[in-house]
Amino acid sequence: MSSDPALKPQTSLFSKGYDPHRSEGAAIPPIFKTSTFLFKTAEEGKRAFEIAYGLSPAEIGESPALIYTRVNNPNVEILEGKSIAWDGADDAALFSSGMGAISSTCLTFLKPGDTLVFSDPVYGGTEYLFHNLLPQFNIRTRHFPIEAGLDALESLLKNDPTVKVIYLESPANPTMMICDVPGAAALAKKYSTKDRQILVMVDNTFMGPIFSSPLKLGADIVLYSATKFFGGHSDLVAGLSMGSREHIEPIKAYRTILGSISDPDTAWLIHRSLGTLQLRMESQQKSAAKIVEFLMSHPSVERVAYPGLKCMGPQQVELWKRQFTGTGSLISFFVKGGQAEAFRVLDSVEHIKLAVSLGGIESLIEHPSTMTHSDMTPEQKRNAGITENMIRLSVGLEDVDDLMADLKQALEKI
Ligand SMILES: *Cc1c(COP(=O)(O)O)cnc(C)c1O
Repeated sequence: MSSDPALKPQTSLFSKGYDPHRSEGAAIPPIFKTSTFLFKTAEEGKRAFEIAYGLSPAEIGESPALIYTRVNNPNVEILEGKSIAWDGADDAALFSSGMGAISSTCLTFLKPGDTLVFSDPVYGGTEYLFHNLLPQFNIRTRHFPIEAGLDALESLLKNDPTVKVIYLESPANPTMMICDVPGAAALAKKYSTKDRQILVMVDNTFMGPIFSSPLKLGADIVLYSATKFFGGHSDLVAGLSMGSREHIEPIKAYRTILGSISDPDTAWLIHRSLGTLQLRMESQQKSAAKIVEFLMSHPSVERVAYPGLKCMGPQQVELWKRQFTGTGSLISFFVKGGQAEAFRVLDSVEHIKLAVSLGGIESLIEHPSTMTHSDMTPEQKRNAGITENMIRLSVGLEDVDDLMADLKQALEKI
């Protein structure tokens, strides 16, 4: 079910990946609320298990029977088939959360003795997985500061024959710093050997799938918290892992045993969100760009972090130009003052909601240092530039003039 290059994603989304005639002609997929599926014959059941457990791969065009909803389910498969419309992946695996996708994908490719190197900072849950859980399985993890770039990455790869995965989050949460994905892919190739292929994984949650396609820049696997833009309505939690068939097949086999697949209702809801994904992201971005201009000219704002802005530095602007087709709808900004001034803004907004998470239709605002990134050490925060006067804003679909008026009156409270 790979994406058809002749059709734009916004069209293939509606015309591919679901056959109504297998569901009584239902125009939209029904929700398949069943735990198990009947086999027509014992032979069919045997073949389905061979494929699901990776004992023998599916032939081209072979459509194996469904088995059990922890293994696969029509709603999950339909969503997976459509969700790849933008990224240029062969296939996707749906998970019960973004962390389910990240942890299951890492465990699929990392074995005791292997090393994962990652750009710093990364999402808090990912950081916990890398610092605390993977080392318990004798999987080593090493990080490099995102602003140190490829030189720092190469120095980690150079003398270490155990590196198996390069993990990037770009733009990084909440600093908006961008990684050089093609550069990392070239290094992965350079240091891969015949029996050790180094994989590049990219968490594309902030800008994907509309403004960023890391697979087209040389990454092997792209990961999403589908809780964010894919779901887009702050009413579900899910994750996606996408890539070539060769990589997604073993990920699905691990997912079956780890039990990290999502459920039919959630898959159906994300399916419903897909049709407006591009529309939402474009509209949210348009408002965000206006809000960035407003914030940059406000006397109580010290600095704004947003992809492509000149103040991010020439190297960041260059990376942004090469890798992104937009700027997205996440903004970090620094008010003049410290925690007290930042809190005054957070407590004064009336329409923007004070909550973590992002990418939904309602605007959300939060304080990274004491909320999403509170378990980082003061030193880690300092290195990453997560200061007490930093505020993260996810711009939603409210009227942009109302949002700016809301921010204006809140900033006046400082
Ligand atoms: C939210 C988020 C995650 C984790 O996703 P969940 O769906 O909450 O498990 C991972 N990476 C990034 C960049 C995120 O914003």
